[in-house]
Amino acid sequence: MPVLVMKFGGTSVATPDRIKRAAKRVGLEVSKGYDVIVIVSAMSGKTNELVGWVNETSPMYDAREYDAVVSSGENVTAGLMAMTLQEMSVPARSWQGWQVPLLTSSIHSAARIEEIPTHNILAKFSEGMRVAVVAGFQGISQEDRITTLGRGGSDTTAVAFAAAFSADRCDIYTDVDGVYTTDPRIAENARKLNKISFEEMLELASLGAKVLQTRSVELAMRYKVKLRVLSSFDEPSEDAGTLVCHEEEIMESNVVSGIAYSRDEAKMTLVSVADRPGIAAAIFGHLSDAGVNVDMIIQNIAEDGRTDMTFSCPTEQVMRAERALQEGSSKLHVNFQQLIADTNVAKISAVGIGMRSQSGVAAKMFKTLSDEGINIKVIATSEIKISVLIDRKYMELAVQALHDVFELEKTP
Ligand code: ADP
Ligand code: ASP
Ligand code: MG
Repeated sequence: MPVLVMKFGGTSVATPDRIKRAAKRVGLEVSKGYDVIVIVSAMSGKTNELVGWVNETSPMYDAREYDAVVSSGENVTAGLMAMTLQEMSVPARSWQGWQVPLLTSSIHSAARIEEIPTHNILAKFSEGMRVAVVAGFQGISQEDRITTLGRGGSDTTAVAFAAAFSADRCDIYTDVDGVYTTDPRIAENARKLNKISFEEMLELASLGAKVLQTRSVELAMRYKVKLRVLSSFDEPSEDAGTLVCHEEEIMESNVVSGIAYSRDEAKMTLVSVADRPGIAAAIFGHLSDAGVNVDMIIQNIAEDGRTDMTFSCPTEQVMRAERALQEGSSKLHVNFQQLIADTNVAKISAVGIGMRSQSGVAAKMFKTLSDEGINIKVIATSEIKISVLIDRKYMELAVQALHDVFELEKTP
């Protein structure tokens, strides 16, 4: 039988009633002849609550126990979803990550999926089970410890299952009816896209659009998974939602396809670092070893053999970066005068494959921000994106202004 993967996010499984609603959709696909793998998130708010309990109990927690705790929300919804389906006379059972087993690396809270053996679930399908409900976000390491895949990781569980089982489609059910030109909660005139390219979705996700976890888009692109984002609250329809697909399948698009934002950025400045060969390698090598995800980097013009170095990283990694640099300063002779952390910044990015062939996008973006009186602190560009760091208090204003100036509300 053909296989379909259906993933339900936190809001879609927030109450037993919503689980029932989601289960009805699953039943519909079963009646069409699909064997279905359902991936569930924890009920909305649950994972945050669990993370809160961990921090309250042990601020410098053991990462293995963190995963043991925060993975548990998905166990509840997997069991409830299986029961709900059984109540509807659909043969179903739940699977926790370790039961599949979904094998991952040992990097706790940011584990990577290494393998999903299919035989256990396929054996059940061949015995007549029609739905395998799998707890998203979690797996098991070689050391037999429970791991999690990073926040939003159930999206990645879903795409990985779709790849492993050669599913016809991977449907991601969430609380919006597709991928929009920007977060519809920030810009009222945000427009739903019928299609978006993998490349653009990858950039938007990695720049903060949390509608899909970045890694899920990467996997879908690599394994040619037909990936769709849609709402679990709308009436079922064949062409609902947004299809994430190859660039060639999209006829027309605007130069800028979307605006992403991330409020969890910090700007770190190393004041007066020696300007000599190997210094950047030492600083960023040390940060990378410490697990700090550096994004933007700027080095100022040197004066008297010394320079300032600025970089951005997620706010939650500021302490880790500070510790690594203090250590580095004695171990690696990266002496600097001062380290300044600015945690009141946000990153705003314009993304579009049209930028490859059209110039002037950056100029237009900078002029728009300047007209709004917004100061740009750091700039980074790639072939299909321009990102800036600005004061966080202007974040919403900047998103709306850029959405307007690039006329994203209009269909190309
Ligand atoms: P789930 O719990 O279903 O995984 P998430 O909260 O992780 O849902 O992701 C959905 C949210 O992503 C939406 O509610 C929306 O606020 C946000 N979002 C950010 N950028 C976009 C975008 N470009 N298009 C759609 N949603 C977006
Ligand atoms: N429940 C996890 C989280 O909130 C994983 C997910 O929902 O994708 O991050
Ligand atoms: Mg999510």
